[in-house]
Amino acid sequence: PLTAGIVGLPNVGKSTLFNAITKAGAEAANYPFATIDPNVGIVEVPDKRLERLAELVKPQKVVPTTFEFTDIAGIVKGASKGEGLGNKFLANIREVDAICHVVRCFDDENITHVSGAVSPADDIETINLELALADLDSVEKRYDRVKKQAKSKDKDALEMLTVLDKIKPVLEEGKPVRMLDFTPEELPIVKSLFLLTSKPVLYVANVAEEDIANAEGNKHLEVVRSIADEEGAEVVTISAAIEEEIAELDDEEKAMFLEDLGVEEPGLDKLIRSSYDLLGLATFFTAGEKEVRAWTFRKGMKAPQTAGVIHSDFEHGFIRAETIAYADYDALGSEKAAREAGKLRSEGKEYVVQDGDVILFRFNV
Ligand code: GDP
Repeated sequence: PLTAGIVGLPNVGKSTLFNAITKAGAEAANYPFATIDPNVGIVEVPDKRLERLAELVKPQKVVPTTFEFTDIAGIVKGASKGEGLGNKFLANIREVDAICHVVRCFDDENITHVSGAVSPADDIETINLELALADLDSVEKRYDRVKKQAKSKDKDALEMLTVLDKIKPVLEEGKPVRMLDFTPEELPIVKSLFLLTSKPVLYVANVAEEDIANAEGNKHLEVVRSIADEEGAEVVTISAAIEEEIAELDDEEKAMFLEDLGVEEPGLDKLIRSSYDLLGLATFFTAGEKEVRAWTFRKGMKAPQTAGVIHSDFEHGFIRAETIAYADYDALGSEKAAREAGKLRSEGKEYVVQDGDVILFRFNV
């Protein structure tokens, strides 16, 4: 499954956030085949639509879909030079599909900041610089070879060279490749380079408890926002310390606690949803009397591939997908009513599954 890696300088609240994720964690009983890796935290993806479907169908069991966060420790200045756990850190980032970059936006005299003062701009720059230097290293290694090949008018080499020429100066400035716009022809070439700074990023502003209901006055947060805007990245505001407390409460206590804080939902829920979006993920549902369940697929996937999310036999033996859009299911209240209203569609191999589809797959075994 796709995973988002949690990175950040020391003492910004990464472990606290990761603890919250693990404590809020998905019930292991539902996911017996899930990875057992202490650095991976599996959370259920909050989804009101699943609750509504369960209300309508009243199944024996309701199973949310999940999302994985990976804890990536060990960034220090000089990581790109292999300092500290530098190499391991970079290798771990290479393996994740998106980056959640935790930035300290809370002032607390008792908690030392690695560079002396709380400064989101410096923190972000430190990490971005290490990643950019690592990318620059791999781009430079390729550059001379590609340039030689391009001299003989090799078409692939020429295209690669154009991309490298676009990327190199940005990395030399210590900036991330994701700031650049690429043409549809260039995109696959960029992808083939497996650069760290081309991965999508979500900035996680870790603010003080008293700031979560109304974070607008937080000057650190504003700095993070402006950097994110420049890069075309998103920002999620949380208080890691609060999230850790929330994660230990039952539903009723949680509701009361959130009301006291003056917020509608845990910051962790926002973080999960934003990470999910960032990775281009979406949800479809299966709704039977035994089980109502949410499943994750990648936007753009066609029906057979999506069926494969459930079981590979569903993909190989795919015949068709009987689909009801969530909005129709919600409005009409049952599969039967949707069928009678002509809202149940029978879709074939070329159907591109939509977020919220309630699907029954027909297949040969
Ligand atoms: P890491 O080094 O990035 O993993 O940081 P930790 O999660 O260990 O947090 C470092 C220190 O900051 C710990 O003492 C935490 O209790 C504290 N901390 C984390 N998040 C918050 C927060 O939202 N508010 C305050 N006041 N302290 C926090």
